[in-house]
Amino acid sequence: MSVSGLCDVCGQPDVDHVCDRCGRLVCDRHYDAELGVCTECGSEIGGDRDDADTYRF
Ligand SMILES: [Zn+2]
Ligand SMILES: [Zn+2]
Repeated sequence: MSVSGLCDVCGQPDVDHVCDRCGRLVCDRHYDAELGVCTECGSEIGGDRDDADTYRF
């Protein structure tokens, strides 16, 4: 699946992912494949460990 646009975090043109949480387009470096979200959302989720079992299989 390819997406066209710029990474919302760093502005690189090679975006491959869409954040499941906020819908941002992000490049590989700013996408957390385990969480399925961008690193911004990933740090929010990671900082708040309420749903620890949703990001660990
Ligand atoms: Zn990026
Ligand atoms: Zn996000």
